[in-house]
Amino acid sequence: MATDEKLHFVVLPFMAQGHAIPVIDFAKLLAERRDVIVTLLLTPVNHIRVKPILDRSSDRGVRIPVEELAFPAQEVGLPAGCENLDLVPSSPLMVNFMAATAMLQPQVEALLRKMRPEPRCLVADTCFPFASEVARKSGIPRLLFHPMTCFTYLCSHHIVTSRILDTVSDEFEYFDVPGMPHETRFTRSQVKGMADPETPGWVEFNDKLIENEKAAFGLIFNTFEDLERTYLREYEMVRQTRVWSVGPVSLFSKELGDKVSRGKSSTVDVDQCSNWLDAQEPGTVVYACLGSICNLTSSQMLELGLGLEASGRPFIWVVGFGCGDEDTKKSLQELLAENGLVKRVSENGRGLVIFGWAPQVLILSHRAVGGFLTHCGWNSSLEGISAGHPVVTWPLFADNFYNEKLLVDVLRVGVRAGVKQSMDYGKGRDVGIQVRRDDVRNAVEEVMGEGDEREARRKRAAELAEKARKAVEEGGSSHANIGKIIEEVRKFNKDSS
Ligand code: UDP
Repeated sequence: MATDEKLHFVVLPFMAQGHAIPVIDFAKLLAERRDVIVTLLLTPVNHIRVKPILDRSSDRGVRIPVEELAFPAQEVGLPAGCENLDLVPSSPLMVNFMAATAMLQPQVEALLRKMRPEPRCLVADTCFPFASEVARKSGIPRLLFHPMTCFTYLCSHHIVTSRILDTVSDEFEYFDVPGMPHETRFTRSQVKGMADPETPGWVEFNDKLIENEKAAFGLIFNTFEDLERTYLREYEMVRQTRVWSVGPVSLFSKELGDKVSRGKSSTVDVDQCSNWLDAQEPGTVVYACLGSICNLTSSQMLELGLGLEASGRPFIWVVGFGCGDEDTKKSLQELLAENGLVKRVSENGRGLVIFGWAPQVLILSHRAVGGFLTHCGWNSSLEGISAGHPVVTWPLFADNFYNEKLLVDVLRVGVRAGVKQSMDYGKGRDVGIQVRRDDVRNAVEEVMGEGDEREARRKRAAELAEKARKAVEEGGSSHANIGKIIEEVRKFNKDSS
């Protein structure tokens, strides 16, 4: 087929790790299909970050060209080069980051006009409400990529439309979400990351997101049918649009290099990390990582590390600095040095502490790992599910508490560390120490220890991993859905030409 007859998808990832990683995985999956070409729209800094991933893809014969978008960081008061949420120097500046993102619309429109072969579909992250208008002006269908789980969106839809929060006076009082297919109990504090009608401007913002969803040709979720069938079907009904599950997208990466190159370069030597894991007994290691924008206070981070040490199990602990200002980073480093924790565990070989960025998917897929302490970002949650690990849940903000609910109460593969209060994503509020080292130790024991209940949890986790693996295999639901998406887009273009 001549290049200009191929179906051209243009993919616009949002510049935050938890959004860009799955969207770029999805772009690769599209590009691997016959008669499809994919162009990525990236800002220069993000282009540099994902270049190794695209080069690997190109080496395998799947070329994904990039068109660059100039990011107006300085125009909104951000430092030059601040082009990813994890580079924003302090939490209050996240608003400026979002303002810069919204300013990309004219550039995206201009690029779509000049690209050849002509774009036939725009795939954009949910954080680009302007994508709806861009696609309309270009006369092409738009797919909206949701980086979170369908369960979260369905819960937040029912919370907002039922106005249940009007009846809840206390931040920590439990209420049941009306309309869910099973009992789903939350507190106001837990749900406000996705449903916060009291915050000025929130309702208008949410209305825009809903309009953006309804106007989409279809919604894409990084999940799989066997995990979320009921929620996917329900969401299709409430939004009256097509809904496809295409995940876990991380499982399509089978080669070592693909598992290592995700998001950005690892700050630990990958051989050192693999050698340390190789030296551990199967299923004994706890991997602890709180995602790409963890904003725990220094004292809470130390308490977490001390809890891992107290668990008596070997562990890998990722101390990330995403979205913390320089003072926070310095204070954490000083506190850790003063306590001697890092020195102790590296000297006695009990732990590997990674400052910065870990090759998470590689670590989770190592046979030595037996449990995952996670902040319950959806990508991490799904990567844990895909690797068959029971989890200790430590939600921070946004959708994290919804994912904790799914992991602990619905799928029953998780144990709560005991976080009650959201971290107020975007403000960096100090909520004090919520989880003590003993809580960490007990939750780790619950996940890693012996006993019928613990074995049953491990079995459930292993069964889910098997279902996830089947979903991405040829003939599996996610694999098939990618084909269906392409066919529907092709049909739309044919019918409208
Ligand atoms: N990640 C990683 N190394 C790290 C921290 C995070 O590879 O040290 C990846 C992780 O595998 C996941 C993504 O970054 O794919 C984080 O997304 P998630 O939705 O879990 O959380 P967020 O960072 O958006 O809060």
